[in-house]
Amino acid sequence: MAGNPFDLTGRKAIVTGANTGIGQGIAVALAKAGADIGLVGRSAALETQELVQAQGRKAVLIGADLSSIGPVGEVVAEAVSELGRVDILVNNAGIIRRDDALDFTEADWDAVVDTNLKTLFFLTQAVGRHMVEWASQDGERGKIINIASMLTFQGGIRVPSYTASKSGVGGLTKLLANEWAIKGINVNAIAPGYIATNNTAALQADATRNRQILERIPEGRWGDPADIGGAAVFLASKAADYVQGHILAVDGGWLAR
Ligand code: NAP
Repeated sequence: MAGNPFDLTGRKAIVTGANTGIGQGIAVALAKAGADIGLVGRSAALETQELVQAQGRKAVLIGADLSSIGPVGEVVAEAVSELGRVDILVNNAGIIRRDDALDFTEADWDAVVDTNLKTLFFLTQAVGRHMVEWASQDGERGKIINIASMLTFQGGIRVPSYTASKSGVGGLTKLLANEWAIKGINVNAIAPGYIATNNTAALQADATRNRQILERIPEGRWGDPADIGGAAVFLASKAADYVQGHILAVDGGWLAR
């Protein structure tokens, strides 16, 4: 709809880790708002591709294992070649490893920090270099959305590398906003609360933890990936052109308690 500041018609987005969970919810929400999507990940996002195409939008599969920064250059080159350019980057791919801090291994530290923080930064750098080439020319702004966590604000328990990585994502979001706002790019983050996905399957299956979590959520339910999609559409849209370095909690009220 012309003049609708939330309309993403013609915009080109890439979403990492889009085959399932929050990434799928975001990809479908951006497509419903009008964007074409590059689905980046190590598992082919065939179901998400169908859901995006059902909205009449283009969905391109871009294979990449983001546990190292090796593929970032090719991801951006492929996205630009298939979509024309990249207007929106959603850094969603992420992993978690659980163990007591006293026993936590270097392997579990590196795996999580490399995927959730190091690759996120270098993919964002590669997309940022592409965005600054066009951002000041046509009045459109580039939009970068990082997926943070409640553990961007809180300490958590038995997830030291995850907490470190997601706290780092919060800091990087602000740093990049400080550097790139003047260059025509908005950098923000979404901090999902407790969302029912593979990432939280162990918590959902633990009756005690499940009850404790639900007791603290004012909305009284686990979030759904679609709950995160709406926030992503907002941050990706013109409606958020003056929103910078913000970490938007979408948590059913968890942090308000
Ligand atoms: P999920 O269902 O486990 O999805 C994680 C996604 O990341 C999958 O698409 C996964 O691909 C991808 N991924 C992981 N490692 C990758 C790698 N090396 N290369 C490429 N892709 C990789 O979990 P989710 O809950 O939707 O998580 C999405 C994001 O939200 C994560 O950053 C997570 O930390 C964050 N988050 C989740 C919650 C929650 O409550 N669920 C709360 C706060 C933040 P594969 O399927 O191939 O593994």
